[in-house]
Amino acid sequence: KLHNTILELKGNIRVFCRVRPLLPEDGCSSDAPVIAYPTPTEGHEQGIDLIQSGQRYAFTFDKVFSHEASQNDVFVEISELVQSALDGYKVCIFAYGQTGSGKTYTMMGRPDSPDQKGLIPRSLEQIFETSQRLSAQGWKYKMQASVLEIYNETVRDLLSSNRSNWDTSRTENGLPGKQYAIKHDANGNTYVSDLTIVDVCSSKEVSSLLHQAAQCRSVGRTQMNEQSSRSHFVFTLRISAVNETTEKHGVLNLIDLAGSERLSKSGSTGDQLKETQAINKSLSCLADVIFALAKKESHVPFRNSKLTYLLQPCLSGDSKTLMFVNLSPEPSSVNESLCSLRFAARVN
Ligand code: ADP
Ligand code: MG
Repeated sequence: KLHNTILELKGNIRVFCRVRPLLPEDGCSSDAPVIAYPTPTEGHEQGIDLIQSGQRYAFTFDKVFSHEASQNDVFVEISELVQSALDGYKVCIFAYGQTGSGKTYTMMGRPDSPDQKGLIPRSLEQIFETSQRLSAQGWKYKMQASVLEIYNETVRDLLSSNRSNWDTSRTENGLPGKQYAIKHDANGNTYVSDLTIVDVCSSKEVSSLLHQAAQCRSVGRTQMNEQSSRSHFVFTLRISAVNETTEKHGVLNLIDLAGSERLSKSGSTGDQLKETQAINKSLSCLADVIFALAKKESHVPFRNSKLTYLLQPCLSGDSKTLMFVNLSPEPSSVNESLCSLRFAARVN
């Protein structure tokens, strides 16, 4: 299979680029486009060019989706990867890009719209459909879901009914807190202490958990006066499959990353500045980790951020990683887009 060849060549890391359409609210449709798609050449990779002040920058990725690509077009390209979580692989799919570039649309979309639902609802439907089919062939499945966010290097449980569901590992007096400590066991499993884990049997059940998580997130927003664009959203589905002779343990992590915009643009000061620095640090840690994995370096700096430490077992070994780099076609976003493409080209 074509996909597997690419996976082998790439050490299981792939990068897809997706450009969102111009929206009426962008209000710049008459400007010259800043993104162009070169005619495909031989080979598996696809190109995208960015035009900034008359200068053309060319990039290639495993796949490039233009503004015309539908949610289904995108899902078709990842369904095999999602399937591998049922076969016992550890899978991570990230969405990276500046705020407003289409990360949440790609991951979640409009869950109630058959056309516009994103890859999280589509993946869940596929997983539960397939597991039902395979149950008839003697497989027994156990699925467990958790949803958390990482904000300012602290973990928050989005399925907890407890309102003070932020970790306390960075208390004023510097003592380590007990809640939401990330631990790995000898079998390569991750535990987040006190994190809510829910047994799930259908995509409907998971949808309602995601709905609950979204509400929890927005309540936190108003309390903390910050936006979802400033935290990493991590949905995890653990899948155990057992039959008479075999056991398989797969994990599917679907991650909507914090907005990648730079300091200067957000004009942050004080707490906001610290927050932006934390985001930039954790995103660059993620790039460092993926880069080290792609280069098969012996030291991979997983411990440098909560996100990479949390995902360590799912990023290493024979796990599979896919990064979406989402771009806005707005001419005013061209600098951010160039940063995103350079980030992605580094991990590609
Ligand atoms: P982000 O999560 O990166 O901040 P969003 O996913 O919220 O960005 O997207 C910003 C806006 O663009 C939203 O209104 C979203 O519905 C719209 N959008 C993003 N991608 C697409 C797409 N491929 N097709 C149609 N609308 C899109
Ligand atoms: Mg978003």
